[in-house]
Amino acid sequence: MLDKILIANRGEIALRILRTCRELGIPTVAIHSSADRELKHVRLADESVCIGPPPSSESYLNIPAIISAAEVTDAVAIHPGYGFLAENADFVEQVENSGFVFIGPRTETIQLMGDKVSAIRTMQDAGIPCVPGSNGPLGDGPEVNLKLAAEIGYPVIIKAAAGGGGRGMRVVHSEANLLHAIAVTQAEARNAFGSIIVYMERFLGGPRHIEIQVLADQYGNAIHLGERDCSMQRRHQKVIEESPAPGITAEQRQAIGQRCADACREIGYCGAGTFEFLYQDGNFFFIEMNTRIQVEHPVTEMITGVDLVREQILIAAGERLRYQQEDVRIRGHAVECRINAENARTFIPSPGRITQFHAPGGPGVRVDSHMYTGYVVPPYYDSMIGKIITWGEDRASAIGRMRTALSEIVVDGIETNVALHQDIMQDAAFQQGGTNIHYLQKKLGLA
Ligand code: ADP
Repeated sequence: MLDKILIANRGEIALRILRTCRELGIPTVAIHSSADRELKHVRLADESVCIGPPPSSESYLNIPAIISAAEVTDAVAIHPGYGFLAENADFVEQVENSGFVFIGPRTETIQLMGDKVSAIRTMQDAGIPCVPGSNGPLGDGPEVNLKLAAEIGYPVIIKAAAGGGGRGMRVVHSEANLLHAIAVTQAEARNAFGSIIVYMERFLGGPRHIEIQVLADQYGNAIHLGERDCSMQRRHQKVIEESPAPGITAEQRQAIGQRCADACREIGYCGAGTFEFLYQDGNFFFIEMNTRIQVEHPVTEMITGVDLVREQILIAAGERLRYQQEDVRIRGHAVECRINAENARTFIPSPGRITQFHAPGGPGVRVDSHMYTGYVVPPYYDSMIGKIITWGEDRASAIGRMRTALSEIVVDGIETNVALHQDIMQDAAFQQGGTNIHYLQKKLGLA
């Protein structure tokens, strides 16, 4: 077993990881910026180290400071959580070269999946369905690119190979705009990501975002844990997630899930991971793979009973996967609402002191949050301050429990998006299920 784990993250996910470490009896080291001394997991950890000033670039993204913290505390492994350095191949390489275990996939896998062009190529070779497109970087020849777009069919989308967070992409509706759009996206990509490599895909009109959770060990065993529907998005940021995805049959789940598990074996994937797909007209189209734990992992945990963080740790410790595919049983339905410190209408962040906090509770209600009365939400980081997850025998009862939970939660002193979630829970189209990735933007009058 791993003797001591350093948690290289903050907020709710750091607390989430700490809880599982405690269950496994593994001592923990919390690292934090000088703005985060009062974080809940910092207080609960066995040891803590301040690694720098508030800006992420000097703390949570400061690789030498994190490695030094691991060295002085005799940690043996590092859990990266999500965001920050979780998918940074340089970080993983330095962690491993310094003699620590990285709780996640191998450096080469992270490199391969970090570049969208190489990720798509790898997945195509492994039999995963992808969006029809250029199957590689675009060259400079205008004739070739015009011909390619005509073959794919308009509208097309030009995407930066190194893009992320919904940035570095541009939709093109007709031939007249293609060459200009390619040039502009290349220039943007060079500025934002330091690489001019772009590729082309068919732009799907009204897809849903459906992703498959996988677990794979170091010995070639791999399973899938069903899908999550994350179509309720604002500016390509997920707002609500659920599992199972409405309308996806057991046969569809088994077929796409099995392909993902097979692809894991083929590429030697190790750890927890997510295959993200766009889903339209009954077809799945791969867009990218996330090589880490995801914000929305609890909905999968609620319907399968599998602790994904625990499995990540056991896999990194060199253990064999404890589940076979037939051991994974899906029971009921789970929904997650991301609670952000922001105005529910304008989305302007609202940092500050929480003067009063009461968590909802009751059967089938899970709250993953580092909030407490008196906690000050700092202005430096992501505005997500917690997640409410509800489980029910079926989708309607999970939504019903979410409504009750949202009516119970009290967060005073700052603004939150609870009212937005209350509104969505009452929305007829949401209640019906299966809305696409544009639905929320349209509902908000933003698209
Ligand atoms: P990022 O890494 O920046 O999140 P993704 O490739 O995952 O980029 O795409 C982000 C979002 O952009 C998707 O969830 C979807 O809303 C939209 N998108 C990306 N590719 C396409 C496509 N081919 N057709 C339609 N929408 C797309």
